[in-house]
Amino acid sequence: MDEVDVILIGSGVMSANLGALLSQLDPSLSIELYEVTKQLSQESSNGWNNAGTGHAGICEVSYTPDRGEDGEIKVDKAIEIFAEFEQTKQFWAHAVRTGMIDKPSEFINQVPHISFVFGQEQVEFLRSRYQGMRKHPFFSKMEYSEDAEQIRKWAPLLIEGRVGQPVAATYMEAGTDVNFGEVSRKLIHWLGQQDGCSIHVETRVTNLKRSGKGWEVTIQNLADGTTHQKKAKFIFIGAGGGSLPLLQKAGVDEIRGYGGFPIGGQWLICEKPEIVERHHAKVYGLSPGEAPTMAVPHLDSRVLDGKEALLFGPYAAWTTKFLHRGGSFFDLPGSIKFHNWLTLLKVGISNLPLVGYLIQQGLQGMNTRLKELRNFYPDAKAEDWKLIDAGIRVQAIKKEDGDAGIVHFGTEVVTSKDRTVSALLGASPGASVCVNIVLEVARKCFVELFTRDEVQKRLLGMIPTLGLHSRIDPENMAEFEKHSLNAEKTLGLRK
Ligand SMILES: Cc1cc2nc3c(=O)[nH]c(=O)nc-3n(C[C@H](O)[C@H](O)[C@H](O)COP(=O)(O)OP(=O)(O)OC[C@H]3O[C@@H](n4cnc5c(N)ncnc54)[C@H](O)[C@@H]3O)c2cc1C
Repeated sequence: MDEVDVILIGSGVMSANLGALLSQLDPSLSIELYEVTKQLSQESSNGWNNAGTGHAGICEVSYTPDRGEDGEIKVDKAIEIFAEFEQTKQFWAHAVRTGMIDKPSEFINQVPHISFVFGQEQVEFLRSRYQGMRKHPFFSKMEYSEDAEQIRKWAPLLIEGRVGQPVAATYMEAGTDVNFGEVSRKLIHWLGQQDGCSIHVETRVTNLKRSGKGWEVTIQNLADGTTHQKKAKFIFIGAGGGSLPLLQKAGVDEIRGYGGFPIGGQWLICEKPEIVERHHAKVYGLSPGEAPTMAVPHLDSRVLDGKEALLFGPYAAWTTKFLHRGGSFFDLPGSIKFHNWLTLLKVGISNLPLVGYLIQQGLQGMNTRLKELRNFYPDAKAEDWKLIDAGIRVQAIKKEDGDAGIVHFGTEVVTSKDRTVSALLGASPGASVCVNIVLEVARKCFVELFTRDEVQKRLLGMIPTLGLHSRIDPENMAEFEKHSLNAEKTLGLRK
């Protein structure tokens, strides 16, 4: 049986970027990608299954929930995410510049990012957040207003029909809408054309077994029902909701105590041109009550397959499936093992408000959903909107140092001790920071590669701001902005 250097499981944004990055850093690597569906990138990374927000910390108020000792909102997380999304943009700009992929407007477009709040308490929160953020050069162009007329200029639908309520908004023109599925497909097509690399669809990875210093992977061909084995030195499990069961099959110690908790999503969508063309922004609000951060509502301009639409949501939905397509209602029960049942039970008990929230969301009717939409768009009419399914996020549940398990809303990279298998669990902030995430995987698992001077040089050529963001003196900022401008011009985001 021949052996390849790398097997990537899944064709989402994570495998796509890891494969492209590794192949750029070391073109001699043999890489094979296996995807269960007939077409590439149809799960969470598919444009319709996520909100397509290029998360840069600009508008997502849920990334800055805490106050410091001075009582002001802490904005460190927003700064971190801004810098990480910048790395993603720079890698994609490198891919465009060098002809790996083309037509950036098919996967990234400029759409202003707005945070919008109403009611006195929320207004005070946003004011403090703005004051913290504007001190950082990343957000120096952010505008803030408590004046309904100014907010109407930024996004008229937010104000029309609203009476006598304090409102506030921040506005930054340089936000983005991203079709993560499209950029993944482009990168994967490029990868498949490289020497020693290949892409296989309608192939399900069903098992992983240690073999010598690497792995033997069992692959089922769904078109003809045959099964074969393949050896690889390194496996990346970028299978989204399918990652946890595969990691469990691989039997790596590091997965002990981990569980997965699926939260389905739904959108309200409006495609009426006369409404769609009056809103050009991604508008994020504050999380209602016990809603997990991923369920913070937003009213979004989307650009998908060349068409514009408005999406509102996501509404959380109860499910036991780990994957939208090809998942099974037995996914959740099947993932409960001897080593994680206690963690899962504790999570259920210690997160009762969250469980209650999910049940309430699952049972709500169209009227309740519209009520939530009208917090953003008071004049919204039921006949203009329809409900569609979004993707499923399998939140990672892990045993913390204390004894209660917690639902972890971030992204977890789980890597075996011998660094031969790595997997991604969890969801947020997800696709936007994919390059930062896969770079972490690559650095951890390809240690020798990163000791080479020419590789470090190549990496800095692709992502020049790496390492710059933590030092924000004026000299560094000028350099940061120069690289940022270059990338945005290449991606067609700035003139
Ligand atoms: C409702 C919602 C809104 C979101 N909004 C945003 C947003 O606005 N911005 C943002 O940055 N992120 C957002 N995210 C998160 C983002 O979508 C994910 O982080 C990202 O798409 C995950 O990519 P992935 O490659 O890990 O997984 P996926 O895109 O899910 O890809 C996994 C792939 O693996 C395949 N697979 C599974 N099992 C197997 C197997 N056994 N063999 C072979 N193939 C297999 C699947 O078919 C799939 O194609 C959102 C997610 C959801 C659900």
